[in-house]
Amino acid sequence: MAIYNITLIPGDGVGPEITDAVTKIIQAVGVDVNWDIQDAGTDVYEKEGTPLPQRVIDSIKKNKIALKGPVTTPVGTGFRSVNVALRQELDLYACLRPCKTYKGSRSIYSDVDLVIVRENTEDLYCGIEFKKDDAETFELIDFIAKKTGKSIRSDSGISIKPISIFGTERIVRFAFEYARKNNRRKVTSVHKANIMKFSDGLFLEVSREVAKDYPDIEFEDKIIDNMCMQLVQKPALYDVLVLPNLYGDIVSDLAAGLIGGLGLAPGANIGSVYAVFEATHGSAPKYKGLNKVNPMAMMLSGILMLRHIGEGCAADHLEKVISDIIAEGKDVTYDMKPTPDDPTSIGTAEVADAIIRRL
Ligand code: NAD
Repeated sequence: MAIYNITLIPGDGVGPEITDAVTKIIQAVGVDVNWDIQDAGTDVYEKEGTPLPQRVIDSIKKNKIALKGPVTTPVGTGFRSVNVALRQELDLYACLRPCKTYKGSRSIYSDVDLVIVRENTEDLYCGIEFKKDDAETFELIDFIAKKTGKSIRSDSGISIKPISIFGTERIVRFAFEYARKNNRRKVTSVHKANIMKFSDGLFLEVSREVAKDYPDIEFEDKIIDNMCMQLVQKPALYDVLVLPNLYGDIVSDLAAGLIGGLGLAPGANIGSVYAVFEATHGSAPKYKGLNKVNPMAMMLSGILMLRHIGEGCAADHLEKVISDIIAEGKDVTYDMKPTPDDPTSIGTAEVADAIIRRL
């Protein structure tokens, strides 16, 4: 039987607790993994001077696959996001986030089955920023005034939003290929091309071109604000959504809300060589070490990973057990109970135990 070498990044905040729960159920379902544990994040930053040491990248490059817990990113100041750096360093251009309602989840909808395909390397996430009061920022403001006749206030900070044909073509193609392989009926390209004609406009133009190669799959486009309203009102009308980076980030959380919260929203960052599997949610620092948060989003990310490495049967088995547990509503964490203070809610580790008992 195959033994897989996979990098494990426990992350920080609740990361170690939820990744521990995932490795346990993967072992229990009979998939043999040799985990190469690589710490990254805030604690590592204090010890090693960087939140993302080269050894982490080297390990993923060697193993090709990683399972990753969330990593805290300081807001406004401090080090830049480890998550964004990993995606850029390994060219994990596609962020795949399936969001579907499991029977029994705490959602007002019963029929959501969306797949968010978020571009992961471009857009406002590329980290090209000009700080307020820096000399380069004043130069840029002058340059823009000269070239466009438009003035930017001198007390501004500026973030750059590049969107390319290359980046858009490969993400839209990824969305269509995913749709084809997984028998999905429609791809919706989401943008704000009415306002940002040269960045989102290009995203839309390229989306339309790529769509011509997939006549078997319906294609449409939606403006991002309307998309948000439509998703809240009638999510069942939508199937695969392909979005530039920032809209993809926001709509992923919106979709997580539709299916009962971040505790159930898995994700994968996929490139042509490497893949890193992680939940949509962050490190939820206030719950760190409390054995409280829902490990299912991370488990479902592990299930995406199992499918990716060809362990489809193990993945199906685990998903069935998890969906049975959700339907019963007994062995679940606080976020899946009628009220968050429900005394019958169980902890992160106990959810893993409950799953293992049923395998
Ligand atoms: P968050 O997703 O960590 O948490 C927001 C809230 O959602 C939590 O307070 C909690 O109420 C709920 N929640 C999240 N995960 C849950 C789970 N598994 N079970 C039950 N409830 C859950 O978002 P945040 O507070 O905005 O971010 C915290 C930190 O995480 C920030 O530093 C942020 O940058 C980082 N972050 C990391 C990633 C990543 O590593 N990929 C993704 C998003 C945010």
